[in-house]
Amino acid sequence: MPTLVYDIAIIGAGASGLQLLYELTQANPEQKILLLDSGDRSAKSWCFWENKDASCFPFLIEKSWDSMLFKTSKGESITSEINPLAYHYISSSKFFTYFFEDFIPANTHITHLNTWVSDLQELPTGVKISSKNGQIFHAKKVADSRPVKSTEANLIFQHFSGKFIEFEEPILDDTCMTLMDFSLPASTDEMAVFHYILPFSKTIALIETTVFTRSAFDKEAYEGIWQAYMDLHYASKQFKILSDENGTIPMGIPPVKKEGTIFSIGAAAGNMKASTGYAFTRMHQDAIHRAQNRTLVSPKRFHFYDKMLLKIMQKEMNKIPEVMDRLFDRVSTPLILRFLDNKTTLSEEVGLLSQLDIPLFIKHLLR
Ligand SMILES: Cc1cc2nc3c(=O)[nH]c(=O)nc-3n(C[C@H](O)[C@H](O)[C@H](O)COP(=O)(O)OP(=O)(O)OC[C@H]3O[C@@H](n4cnc5c(N)ncnc54)[C@H](O)[C@@H]3O)c2cc1C
Repeated sequence: MPTLVYDIAIIGAGASGLQLLYELTQANPEQKILLLDSGDRSAKSWCFWENKDASCFPFLIEKSWDSMLFKTSKGESITSEINPLAYHYISSSKFFTYFFEDFIPANTHITHLNTWVSDLQELPTGVKISSKNGQIFHAKKVADSRPVKSTEANLIFQHFSGKFIEFEEPILDDTCMTLMDFSLPASTDEMAVFHYILPFSKTIALIETTVFTRSAFDKEAYEGIWQAYMDLHYASKQFKILSDENGTIPMGIPPVKKEGTIFSIGAAAGNMKASTGYAFTRMHQDAIHRAQNRTLVSPKRFHFYDKMLLKIMQKEMNKIPEVMDRLFDRVSTPLILRFLDNKTTLSEEVGLLSQLDIPLFIKHLLR
């Protein structure tokens, strides 16, 4: 019997693999797609900002916020309407349930197998895929989302240690999410700490301790910081913990992209913003472009800004709260969000960067 050759194989059924699966199917429901995945379904809250009529899986969005709070290290609140944008939330559990219980079973051109891919070999006719359990597959091309280890010497991490909690009383403003709250003085020369809050209702929220550091995840230390934050802001409030969310994003300059019959997608393709860790909408844009045989490109200057911001994070960890305070105090939040999405014009960028600590930025530009 001749070997079945798939039109495309996707390795990894995470955010980028499933987004590409979806867009390829929209573009051509006849293609034979092989989805190979090791089965990691660790819980993540995927958030992103987009116009209110979001095009990034709007049917999976569970909650959207029109306003955003930034709290400075001095405890001052800067609340902004982010119109015409909104901040959207998709839980990985809803995302996976949709794909594995609805989308994949309804599309017979997709073959999904749980297996660990151990090797890819480019052949004149396509790609040979080997799995750990000895299976061999063939595809004309391969989209690979397996993580790539960074070789960067000064790599810093963004660690999350959060809890979904339910207060006894309706004390939350569920129309406003907190992007960054630096009010707890927990930052040091070794780590920059802020809190991130997604209020889903007047009683239920995800409250997350976020830490930029060179060190490995330290569960005990972050739980202590989380408790200190709760004592500072909710000392007299009764709540119960519903579940935990922990994770780490390496904040580095993207690895060199593989392009050809084997190409990278997702974080492995550098679709994660190096200075923020946000990736969901960029991965989706990449999927749409690939499904239409187009290439997603951003002006090179955004790569340069990312490098500069990362350098400041790496070399001047203790300055992060100050840099962020100044940024949100002087620049409108919607403009900051568009800048972080690589969507500003050059003159807007000049205006934005001129509001920052110029000597600090020049120092790192010259390095
Ligand atoms: C805790 C956390 C929260 C985040 N929150 C946000 C957010 O709010 N907004 C945002 O924009 N970004 C967020 N990110 C960043 C980014 O969106 C996610 O990391 C996203 O999951 C990256 O997608 P991916 O497809 O590259 O990798 P993944 O989603 O990790 O998918 C990779 C897949 O490959 C599979 N795999 C790996 N090796 C093999 C192998 N050898 N064979 C077969 N399968 C394999 C794994 O099982 C996994 O399913 C977050 C990241 C973390 C860690």
